[in-house]
Amino acid sequence: MSALTTPDVDVVVVGAGFAGMYATHLLRTKNNLTVQGFERGSGVGGTWFWNRYPGARCDAESIVYSYSFDDEIQQEWTWSERWATQPEILEYANFVADKIGIRDTFRFNTEVASMAWDDDSQTWTTTTAAGDKTVSKYVVTAVGCLSASQVPDFKGLSDFAGQVYHTGAWPHEGVDFTGKRVCVIGTGSSGIQSIPRIAEAADHVTVFQRTATFTVPAQNRPLGVDEMAQVKAVYPALREHAKSTAAGVIVKQPIGRALELDAETVRAELDARWAQGGPTFMNAFTDTMSDLEANEITAEYVRERVREIVQDPETAELLSPHAYPIGTKRICVDTDYYETYNRDNVDLVSVKEHPIEKIGTRGPVVNGVEYDCDVLVMATGFDAITGPLLRLNITGSEGRPLSEAWAEGGKSYLGLAVAGFPNMFTVTGPGSPSVLTNMILSIEQHVEWITDFLLDLEDAGVGVVEASLQAQEQWVADVNAIADQTLYPQAASWYMGSNVPGKARVFMPYAGGADAYRAICDEIVSSGYSGFVMDAGASERAEQRQEEMAPVV
Ligand code: NAP
Repeated sequence: MSALTTPDVDVVVVGAGFAGMYATHLLRTKNNLTVQGFERGSGVGGTWFWNRYPGARCDAESIVYSYSFDDEIQQEWTWSERWATQPEILEYANFVADKIGIRDTFRFNTEVASMAWDDDSQTWTTTTAAGDKTVSKYVVTAVGCLSASQVPDFKGLSDFAGQVYHTGAWPHEGVDFTGKRVCVIGTGSSGIQSIPRIAEAADHVTVFQRTATFTVPAQNRPLGVDEMAQVKAVYPALREHAKSTAAGVIVKQPIGRALELDAETVRAELDARWAQGGPTFMNAFTDTMSDLEANEITAEYVRERVREIVQDPETAELLSPHAYPIGTKRICVDTDYYETYNRDNVDLVSVKEHPIEKIGTRGPVVNGVEYDCDVLVMATGFDAITGPLLRLNITGSEGRPLSEAWAEGGKSYLGLAVAGFPNMFTVTGPGSPSVLTNMILSIEQHVEWITDFLLDLEDAGVGVVEASLQAQEQWVADVNAIADQTLYPQAASWYMGSNVPGKARVFMPYAGGADAYRAICDEIVSSGYSGFVMDAGASERAEQRQEEMAPVV
């Protein structure tokens, strides 16, 4: 590419989920920049566009799992249930898209095949799967953390005679399970939400469980008109409360350290939170996520509930999680999950001792037995956080692929920018609180931070900006140090990249809380954007990287 290349637009935004929609809106209205958006789906909504499996719901409460940036939007929209269903959230995304008028900025049904930075022209070229190219000054990736579906490499899968569906790429027309024999592989959030609904509709369901998962009841209920009116009257205060918490939600504060409280108090608190429902159950005590002995108190409480609910003792034992400390894999939130195993048409097959050998023409084969089914549901998760970004085939300065820069795991500065990838910003990238928090709240914070940064850069006439390698290394070290103070690294979870063969085992999100993280990002602004290198020429930036990579003697 020649040095005279003129960008087609100022910014390319990839993804029309909640991050891409808000980024596009602010870039156009606040920054007054031209934007081209690309979205592989046919509509907006991101994760809620794809995950249409039965029972799909949010596990952050509807009233805070929504945009706060526009009071008109939050006053006009009314949530109907405590935990919104996927169709309602998708409807909300479409409502917002119309309100802020961003659809015309996006090319839908358009997959990005590659994104390449050119050091000479200081531009990005985004190439679509159809071969169309768009040149831009900046790129903003808004591809979500859980959008690259992960299907295990099962032998024989292509020979299976029935239908196969992944929960993360569910058919828009739905699946009619009436009279069908169904096998479901996977018991993470997607499996736990869908299994009860599939069991209600299907003739028979066989669930293949490798690791028993901790799940707490949603205790879902409708939100009455009066309740929503009360919420709307205090929305600003409610949003401020959410911002002041680590998870970015409405939380009931912990009552103390489980190990220092008497057994009766501990029990009463867990009973109350179980009855209240939702992930705030995990917030009962301050030591649950940092002390194994404390963690075991909450874990055993859940196992007790499983034994109480599930009638068959053998099935109850199989469903009782022992493989990891509670909370170190994302806590699931369910409606009637354990109860479902009391139905006559549901069987549980453990594939812990005997993994799925292959998928036969009639169904999964375990320990020599083929389980016949008409429909095979893969609730097998995602190549999380880094997967969606690597799928874009990004190359940075000097033609370096992101896959090479991330060979040891996703590295970034603040989860917002990657050294060696100038003028690229990653909304909720690796090293940001993202999946440990209310995603929409974290998305808003990132998008506002990035767009304010771009305003400042444009005002100052800066052409090229990049995270310094030194700042990035320090941030990655900080992220790891914080994770090491918790029990998180003890689980083989998707947070750690453990669910993808060959993926580096690194704890990817920032576990210090959305509140602390926001304060750090604000301090970086006050310091004049420390950790970013501005307008160094390509050769100077390369030199700087060489110096930073030189061994310290
Ligand atoms: P997941 O948590 O990664 O669960 C995948 C499941 O598939 C696990 O049970 C896993 O077993 C199993 N599995 C994978 N490969 C297997 C194999 N070869 N043989 C047998 N079992 C296999 O994925 P997910 O349920 O889609 O959830 C991912 C994340 O998406 C959640 O943690 C959550 O953050 C988000 N999500 C949220 C909601 C919500 O808001 N309510 C709903 C759905 C998803 P192992 O545990 O043994 O690996």
